[in-house]
Amino acid sequence: MSTHVDAGWQGRRRAGVPRAAVSRCEETSGPRLPSVPATWPHAAGIQEGRGRVDLFEYQARDVFEKHGVPVLGGIVATTPQEARAAAERLGGGTVVVKAQVKTGGRGKAGGVKLAHNPDEAGEKAGEILGMDIKGHTVHRVMVAAGARIAEEYYFSVLLDRAERRYLAMCSVEGGMEIEQLAVERPDALARVAVDPIVGIDAAKAAEIVAAAGFAADVAPQVAEVIQKLWTVYREEDATLVEVNPLVRTTDGAVVALDGKVTLDENAGFRHPDHAELEDTAAADPLEARAKDADLNYVKLDGSVGVIGNGAGLVMSTLDVVAYAGEAHGGVKPANFLDIGGGASASVMAAGLDIILSDPQVHAVFVNVFGGITACDAVANGIVAALDILGDHATKPLVVRLDGNNVAEGRAILAAAAHPLVTLADTMDGGADEAARLAHAATAAP
Ligand code: GDP
Ligand code: MN
Repeated sequence: MSTHVDAGWQGRRRAGVPRAAVSRCEETSGPRLPSVPATWPHAAGIQEGRGRVDLFEYQARDVFEKHGVPVLGGIVATTPQEARAAAERLGGGTVVVKAQVKTGGRGKAGGVKLAHNPDEAGEKAGEILGMDIKGHTVHRVMVAAGARIAEEYYFSVLLDRAERRYLAMCSVEGGMEIEQLAVERPDALARVAVDPIVGIDAAKAAEIVAAAGFAADVAPQVAEVIQKLWTVYREEDATLVEVNPLVRTTDGAVVALDGKVTLDENAGFRHPDHAELEDTAAADPLEARAKDADLNYVKLDGSVGVIGNGAGLVMSTLDVVAYAGEAHGGVKPANFLDIGGGASASVMAAGLDIILSDPQVHAVFVNVFGGITACDAVANGIVAALDILGDHATKPLVVRLDGNNVAEGRAILAAAAHPLVTLADTMDGGADEAARLAHAATAAP
């Protein structure tokens, strides 16, 4: 478990199952608001699929600056020499060298280091560049002006789909232990509903800082920054804006020292400038490929590949596979992949190709409910996909079809008699068989 609320992105990769995705906190049902806020955005991420763009901290810093949120100077560097020069440009004094990776807990992982002069900044950059932080290789650092921190606070605002509004969270005890705080002392993290029509106006900002218990001398200043952060959220069409820590410096300024922003890619047409914020290279290569193929795919940690049509069906398939896996060595789903309504051969081939390219996958469960695209079309798609993939298809496939033209679909698969394909009658049965096969493939001989 990570130690930082950093709601933005760490959960995507750890979201083993909707249950786990929605919960580091023992929630037991679908994508609704958990008591540990950190996980909610990830569940949202799964629902949204390709609809999100996570920004690097330096990009978030730039966006904050554009909207008047107080930030410190920051310059990106990809080599120690550049980091040294950046520290010079920032005045030659104390700077912080920060790994730019899309995961939280950089501080704890040694990815945030103070440097007292430009030479030291170069040295620290040398240590941080190339580092691996939770599976993310550090290719860039941000050299940021150093702050003298008096207090660390936490603030975030995010989309609360279940309640059809926004949710602001705020604490006077921000910093690297925020996630622990959220679990151990949830009362110390104020949660304030935000009406989407009204947003965070002066009154709402005052309510948030009051709920969080800010001292009177700093409350108005924080409220003002919160309104600016709301401007970022609204103007940029974000689904998450998080600042941890928001600090009060020893000279009394309130500054956003770290920022996480997730943009709603569906609003991209309103923001031509957002296109350049995307970083497909640093994303999971399989996710990048899926995105190119226009597939709704999220890589998870398990060994049972999952393909279905419709986000709801895929979500419940993940659940059922995880449940079935408990009887087969604890195997888990390897991914979320929604091929959507038109399960044509080429879409099925693209989906299967991506899943089969994942070395962690040992069996695949195809769970399709025939609707407008009927089961016979899906079955033909699967047969054609296996044809297209040829030798690339090496792992067993369990297929469960139901719905429109199910008998025809099953007949097509039966006639094709592909050696890798097993037909399942039910979703539970299919999940069990796929879990069994995945476990058998990994279990010691
Ligand atoms: P994260 O661990 O990935 O969230 O990275 P942060 O940017 O939040 O940095 C982690 C911690 O480093 C913060 O909670 C601060 O305590 C500390 N830190 C970050 N920037 C500065 C700075 O300018 N000065 C000082 N003294 N500490 C900083
Ligand atoms: Mn942080």
